[in-house]
Amino acid sequence: MTDCIIIGSGTAGISAALTLKANGKNFIIFGSASLSEKIEKAESIRNYPGLSNATGKAFVAALKTQLSDMEIAVTEEKVIGVYAMNDKFGVATQNGNYYESKAVILACGVESVKTIEGETEFAGRGVSFCATCDGALYKEKTIAVFCTSKRLEHEIEYLAGFAKKVYLIPMYKPVEIERENIEIVRKMPVKIAGETRVNKLIFKDGELKIDGLFSLRESVSPVTLVNDLKTEGGHVCVTRKMETNLKGLFAAGDCTGRPYQYAKAVGEGNVAAHAVSEYLMGEMMLNGKAQTGDLTFRFE
Ligand SMILES: Cc1cc2nc3c(=O)[nH]c(=O)nc-3n(C[C@H](O)[C@H](O)[C@H](O)COP(=O)(O)OP(=O)(O)OC[C@H]3O[C@@H](n4cnc5c(N)ncnc54)[C@H](O)[C@@H]3O)c2cc1C
Repeated sequence: MTDCIIIGSGTAGISAALTLKANGKNFIIFGSASLSEKIEKAESIRNYPGLSNATGKAFVAALKTQLSDMEIAVTEEKVIGVYAMNDKFGVATQNGNYYESKAVILACGVESVKTIEGETEFAGRGVSFCATCDGALYKEKTIAVFCTSKRLEHEIEYLAGFAKKVYLIPMYKPVEIERENIEIVRKMPVKIAGETRVNKLIFKDGELKIDGLFSLRESVSPVTLVNDLKTEGGHVCVTRKMETNLKGLFAAGDCTGRPYQYAKAVGEGNVAAHAVSEYLMGEMMLNGKAQTGDLTFRFE
């Protein structure tokens, strides 16, 4: 079991990872090899101390060098569930792997494309966020796939391998998959509807009959990931130590609220990592496992 699992390899997650490393903790950081689409996309960064007019790509390159120098590797797996148990967390990933850790930091960012009405309501009843988990359930069925990033196209291919018909609603350009059973629909859905299960997708000017909808997004909403997590306006509620309402679960970066900025994300990632170290120390003391040397760590 690791000390901590960080979900997200943007500036918040990387900052948390660097601090946990400096604090001598063992951890896993989940995310993507290119770190964060939001960093990559920035044309020119002017408000981050030490970076004058840097491009997002240059920032990513600098972060990658720093991670490599610190011997921190990003694990490229998408987290699909975080399960709070008594004194530990279970973390499931789309690859079918399961990990355990004493603490978790949510640094999953926010999804810029807003949720479709009905997306949360029908989750598990025809709406899925995980192609590899649920794709096989839609063999020979008609599905809609709402996809926010080109990087997720391999998941669309995977789904098209099962479904009879795929209505693909891409939020990016250009689409590079071509398959007979995929039809591209370039308009924004207004509502996912159904009775006990999803049965149609409604647009301003019509509707499609579907058996299910896959919502493929770079960021999975924190409430979808963790049961009973307290949020407000779509953001995770946190204390000044980045603690959530669940013991041992911390959050940092855009997912905790505005302003959506690198400096805030980095600061919160750092605070969250220190708070995790303090939390782990508290747990060790409770269990009578702390050594005298361990007690030198202080949050301040
Ligand atoms: C085009 C653009 C330009 C910007 N320019 C600036 C700027 O100049 N200055 C500035 O201060 N801010 C800027 N921002 C805002 C800045 O990018 C964000 O505030 C910052 O990236 C937030 O960092 P984060 O770590 O919280 O989230 P993100 O950078 O969004 O990182 C989240 C990470 O979590 C991963 N993730 C999400 N869900 C999961 C999951 N379930 N499993 C595994 N990994 C997951 C994602 O893949 C991603 O790696 C810009 C944003 C955009 C889009």
